[in-house]
Amino acid sequence: MNLILLGPPGAGKGTQAQLLEATRGLKQLSTGDMLRAAIAADTPIGRQAKAIMDRGDLVPDDVVIGIIADRLTQPDCAKGALFDGFPRTTAQADALDALLAGRGQKLDCVIEFAVDDGILIERITRRAAQDEAAGKPVRSDDRPDVFPNRLAKYHRDTAPLIAHYGAKGLLKSIDGMQPVEVVRAEIAAILEGL
Ligand code: AMP
Repeated sequence: MNLILLGPPGAGKGTQAQLLEATRGLKQLSTGDMLRAAIAADTPIGRQAKAIMDRGDLVPDDVVIGIIADRLTQPDCAKGALFDGFPRTTAQADALDALLAGRGQKLDCVIEFAVDDGILIERITRRAAQDEAAGKPVRSDDRPDVFPNRLAKYHRDTAPLIAHYGAKGLLKSIDGMQPVEVVRAEIAAILEGL
């Protein structure tokens, strides 16, 4: 099964992806995590991506498509994957279709996390302040001066995918502002119905 979790940064996609990986054996592919790993390892891709990510902009399509294309060839993705933070543009969505078709697979479902921007900004700002006060590291792009740009990029570049996948009959929307456990149950119900 190939599943996309679609929604703005901070909507809870990563949390649900980890739950799904643990319970359903679906491999979570988070391009954000892979890019952060590339930065930590100081690879050429990491060096290219760092300043872009620090600003809250999107890394070029060809870079993230290349990362996903490579990753899909690994054995743990043989039966499909759970895409978290990818695709973020229609070019990435088209590339994913082609990659899956080349593997004799298809996309089964896209789950959209609908959230309120104002509440999201409040939540991320509060979390960053609490973490900072507790001496915990705060992701550079979760800072209040960067997060709104990530949200703006989501609305400009990624939100059009909602209509894109809606037209293909693949979209299911859930209220991402509900408690983690409620969101988890709603996703489970969607997957049961596939
Ligand atoms: P995330 O952890 O998914 O919020 O991603 C963190 C940052 O990594 C984003 O703000 C982008 O700069 C970059 N990034 C992650 N995934 C993608 C993608 N599919 N396309 C472009 N940039 C991405």
